[in-house]
Amino acid sequence: MTVTVRFAPSPTGHIHIGNSRPALFNWLFARKNGGAFILRFDDTDLERSKAEYAESIETDLRWLGIQPDRIERQSERVASYDAAAQKLKDAGLLYPCYETPDELERRRSRQRALGRPPVYDRAGLKQSDEERAAFEAEGRKPHWRFVLPNHDGDPFQTRRTDVSWTDLCRGEQAVDLASLSDPVLIRADGTYLYTLPSIVDDIDMGVTHVIRGEDHVANTGVQIAIFEALDAKAPVFGHHNLLTTRDGEGLSKRKGALSIGSLREAGLEPMAVASLAVLTGTSQAVEPVPAMEQLVEKFDLSNVSRSSAKFDPEELKSLNARLVHDLPFEAVRDRLASLGIDPTETFWNTVRGNCETVCAAAAYWQIVDGSIEGKIEDEDREFLSKARDLLPEGDITVESWPAWTNALKAETGRKGRALFMPLRRVLTGLDHGPDMKDMLPLIGRQNILDRLP
Ligand code: GLU
Repeated sequence: MTVTVRFAPSPTGHIHIGNSRPALFNWLFARKNGGAFILRFDDTDLERSKAEYAESIETDLRWLGIQPDRIERQSERVASYDAAAQKLKDAGLLYPCYETPDELERRRSRQRALGRPPVYDRAGLKQSDEERAAFEAEGRKPHWRFVLPNHDGDPFQTRRTDVSWTDLCRGEQAVDLASLSDPVLIRADGTYLYTLPSIVDDIDMGVTHVIRGEDHVANTGVQIAIFEALDAKAPVFGHHNLLTTRDGEGLSKRKGALSIGSLREAGLEPMAVASLAVLTGTSQAVEPVPAMEQLVEKFDLSNVSRSSAKFDPEELKSLNARLVHDLPFEAVRDRLASLGIDPTETFWNTVRGNCETVCAAAAYWQIVDGSIEGKIEDEDREFLSKARDLLPEGDITVESWPAWTNALKAETGRKGRALFMPLRRVLTGLDHGPDMKDMLPLIGRQNILDRLP
C-alpha cells in the first residue's frame, strides 16, 4: 500500500514554527517512503475557520518546501461524516445526551470533590425515549457521544480496557478507555468535532500513517476504538514531542513572532526554520541542513526524544547565518536583485560571510554603490588625508589594500587597529565588516576619494 500521510491543521490562525514540526515530519516521512502528502484542512468549526488562514497555511508550507500532493477540506465532506455517524447510531454506539455545559461542569466538580475522576457517567445512555422527547419539547438539542468499548456488554460496568499500539516515536503505547469519558462526536448544533471527521477522512483517503503531536495520544486511544467500530483498520501512529521555548512554554498560535509568516518576513531561510523545527528534541545535533533532500536523509522518527523539544529563538538566527554564509551566488542572485542590488558573484562572495540573512547584503551594497556616512574621528583627519595622497594609482584591485596600508604604515608609523580602523570607518561607516582587501575594489576609486577628507 502506498504510504499516505496528512497534515491536518485547523485554519483558525496562522501556523508557527511549532505547527511546522508535524507538517515537516509528515512531508519528510512521505518523501523518505515514496509516499503521498495530503494537506487537509480540519475546518468543521465554521465559526473559527477562515479561508484566509487556509491560504496563509498553504503559502507558509510551500515556502518551507512542502508541496502537497492533494488538498482536502473537511467542510466539503460532511455527507461522509453523516453516513459514518448514522452507521454508529444504527449500531447503538452513538447516543444523544441533553446535558447543558453547566450541568456537565457541576457534575464534574461533584466527582472531583468526591475524589473520583471526572468521567461522564453515561446518563444519556440510560434515558428513555419519553425522557428524550421531554428534553426536545423543552427545546433542547442533543449532542452525541460514542460508547467507548470499555465494558463486557453492560456499559455501566466499565473495566480497564487498554488500547495499545506501537508508536513510531514512543514505542509501545496504551490508553485505558475506562479512564476516559465517552467522546462527544457531534455538537448540539449538529456540527462535528474533529474526532470523527478525522477518522472518516483517514479511512476514505487511505491514510497509512498518522504523525502528530503527543497532545493527541489520548485521542488515539479513542480513535482506534472508532476505527474498529467502523470496521476499518487503524493507521500506524507516531506522536512526537512538542516544540516549546526554553522555559517550557508552549507555542500558541498567538506567538506572532514565531509565526512562519513573520520568520519569512524577518528574512530567515526556510531551511533554517525546517532544520530547527525537525532536529530540535531529537537525538541528532541541531545543525543547518542546506536542502530538504538532505533533511530527508537525516530524518528518522525513532530519533525523536521523549522529553519536550526546547529551543531558543536565537538559535534560528545562528542557524540562518551559517546557511547564508555558504549559499552559492546562483541561489541568491534573484533575491539580491529584488533587494535593489546589481548582483555579481564577487560582491556576494565578499559579503556573505558577514550576512546573518540574505537581506543584510543590502547594507553592504549601500557601501559599495550608494552613499554612506563615513565616520571620521578628529584625531584621524590628518592620517586620512595622507591616505588620500597615498592611494595606489590605477585600477583598485585586491592588491590595492595591502599596498595602500603598507605605504601608510611606512609614512605614519601607525600599525594594527590605529592603521586599519580609521580607513574601515571612513570607507564603510562600520567598525566591522567584510575583508577590506575585497571590499576596496568593489567600493572603487571614486567612492574612496569622495569619502576621504
Ligand atoms: N486538526 C488537528 C490538530 O491541529 C489534527 C490532529 C491530527 O493530526 O489528527 O491538532
